[in-house]
Amino acid sequence: MIKIKRVYEENGKFFAVSDQSPFYPDGKGGQLGDRGKIGPANVLNVQETSEHEIVHILDRFIEPGEYDCVIDQLRQKDIATQHTAQHILSASFLKVAQAGTVSFHMGEESSTIDLDMPQLTIETLKASEELANEIVRKCVDVEILQLDREEAEKMNLRKALSEKVADLVRIVKIDDFDTSACGGYHVKNTGEIGVIKVVSWEKTKGSLTRVYFLAGNRAVKDYNKKVLVLRELSKLLTSSIDQMQDRIEGLLNKIKDQASLIKSLSEELAKVLHEKLETHRFKGYTVSTYEGLDEVAYSLTKYFQTDLLICKTSEGYLFASKGIDCSKLIEALKKELPGTGGGGARRGTFKTTASWKELLLTTEKFLEVI
Ligand SMILES: [Zn+2]
Repeated sequence: MIKIKRVYEENGKFFAVSDQSPFYPDGKGGQLGDRGKIGPANVLNVQETSEHEIVHILDRFIEPGEYDCVIDQLRQKDIATQHTAQHILSASFLKVAQAGTVSFHMGEESSTIDLDMPQLTIETLKASEELANEIVRKCVDVEILQLDREEAEKMNLRKALSEKVADLVRIVKIDDFDTSACGGYHVKNTGEIGVIKVVSWEKTKGSLTRVYFLAGNRAVKDYNKKVLVLRELSKLLTSSIDQMQDRIEGLLNKIKDQASLIKSLSEELAKVLHEKLETHRFKGYTVSTYEGLDEVAYSLTKYFQTDLLICKTSEGYLFASKGIDCSKLIEALKKELPGTGGGGARRGTFKTTASWKELLLTTEKFLEVI
């Protein structure tokens, strides 16, 4: 049962306010919020205000009053799994590498802890993850204790109590492995977590390391996804998973070699081709044109002998010149033809839907007046 005292609408969303709620708020203690139903409305998000009111964001309007509510139990169980995994992982990093947890954030996809360490080595990561999974496999009961502040401070807490903590403190105790003050959801026994897996890590905010982890079903789903991706890659690369890295490195090197071979061949071709290009004579100027492979067009800009070279490439028309200012020519083209472009005196590009005929006519007009 929940008592909604006020409901208002803002930007098509409905906000139902109560003094107390069975729905855990989003972001409190880094944890995700509950979802479910209040009467006929779906709860999309839950926020706690600075005045300790709980605001439920709903998908439809409801009148203030008392309602039955349903909380998504599967989601709550997942939240408890991720949250308890965080306690265990944070304690593991502290034991293995004396790295404290500065902050924790639970996301819909993965969760993160920010560790007070500038660099995370593979060895530290492996040892911490193994230790965390050992505690999971030991199937240790997770105790919840309500203690007054003085008693709580004697409990060898992983993190000192914040000044804001009131007289009564909720302590989450995982055997002698970890004792922390926390108000979130936790599993009853570490065995329920199943598995804890770090999936990524990066340096963040100066000297901190952000670790991304998954626990329980999230980890299994991720494993399933990665198995399928690796299986497909293994087929595509005709390589076993163990040899995949070498295989990809080999392929990348081959691509690099082939790119430089294409460049050399284009240069060789351009050296021969520039003399055979179609050439127009506009006023006193010679203008040669080329339409074909981009690489060859780029190489031709080195070898052409006429006053102006125009190449049609996949990027638009490419201009190269020895005595005509390409930037001025492109500005003139832009006035007459649709398109965009620009460049310097020696080289420029013009992207347009105009045909060769229109482009050459406009170029001729420009050359007649310079
Ligand atoms: Zn907790």
